Amino acid sequence: MKVLLATEKPFAKVASDGIREIVEKAGYELVVLEKYTDKSELLKAVADVDAIIIRSDKVTAEVIEAAKNLKIVVRAGAGYDNVDLAAATARKIVVMNTPGQNSNAVAELAIGMMIFMARNKFTPGTGSEIHGKRLGIHAYGNVGKIVARYGKGFGMEVYAYDPFITDHAVYEKDGVIPVASVEELYSKCDYVSIHIPATEQTKKSINFDLLSKMPKGATIVNTARKEVIDEEGLAKVLAERTDLKYITDIAADMQVVLNEKFGNRVFATPKKMGAETQEANVNAALAAANQIVAFFTKGENRFQVNKW
Ligand code: NAD
Repeated sequence: MKVLLATEKPFAKVASDGIREIVEKAGYELVVLEKYTDKSELLKAVADVDAIIIRSDKVTAEVIEAAKNLKIVVRAGAGYDNVDLAAATARKIVVMNTPGQNSNAVAELAIGMMIFMARNKFTPGTGSEIHGKRLGIHAYGNVGKIVARYGKGFGMEVYAYDPFITDHAVYEKDGVIPVASVEELYSKCDYVSIHIPATEQTKKSINFDLLSKMPKGATIVNTARKEVIDEEGLAKVLAERTDLKYITDIAADMQVVLNEKFGNRVFATPKKMGAETQEANVNAALAAANQIVAFFTKGENRFQVNKW
């Protein structure tokens, strides 16, 4: 059995060493392709492998077509919008993610970015505190739940909206107030932290109308995906509402323009770094390797995201 670790942006060494240990202990061969710069390198590497572990790497229909022996792809991370699910499903290739393994890292970054912005990007001058402010959690999944808990730790009043979690008890046991609509969340909260996946339904769903509803001085925090933002709408609302701020871990396509136009009211990390902690690397990497071994040895498919 041949397992490919394909990471254009490599894991910390301790994490890739962990993958090797698990894969080789199971009696499989590990092939590593790191820091590749051209798609052709990936197409060549996948030719004879049975399994692939990826991070943000793109597993397109072309990659799937080139991988004649492929049985499973594990995205070491939460979002799997970088895998062509339809192409994988058509060939009955199992696609999994490793939910929850990097959530704490992302949640810490979301809170850190809020404070960074509240303190004027750590430049001299009078800032503000997040204590006592209203925090809206847009999607109450693995990351959203931790941001909610940390927000409460900072003395924020926490609200959440997630149409797939309708049992109010889920929120109330965490001291979080559920709201009935996404509009209500954005109208109420001084900070909205976005944790929705990028899907056909959510892409560009955070638009001018929604953002216009935010209260004076509000801040939007995006550690999810750039695709969920309607960038034209964001630019328009930032131009009209000079009190609003936007901070993101995933630079917008038009980030250079946003930075030029709105200066201190916008911030993007230089490169997506939500999951870039040693701890999250190790958690996600080991989970990915273990899931592959469990799949081949026991048919375990708990984290499969495509069905047929
Ligand atoms: P998750 O799967 O645990 O939670 C996603 C939540 O979104 C679920 O509770 C689901 O019910 C909810 N949801 C789906 N569609 C929705 C909609 N239309 N409106 C409101 N809620 C909706 O995922 P997670 O681990 O919490 O991660 C959230 C997202 O963050 C991922 O999809 C990924 O894109 C992104 N992410 C980014 C980084 C980073 O490095 N910045 C790292 C991990 C995850």
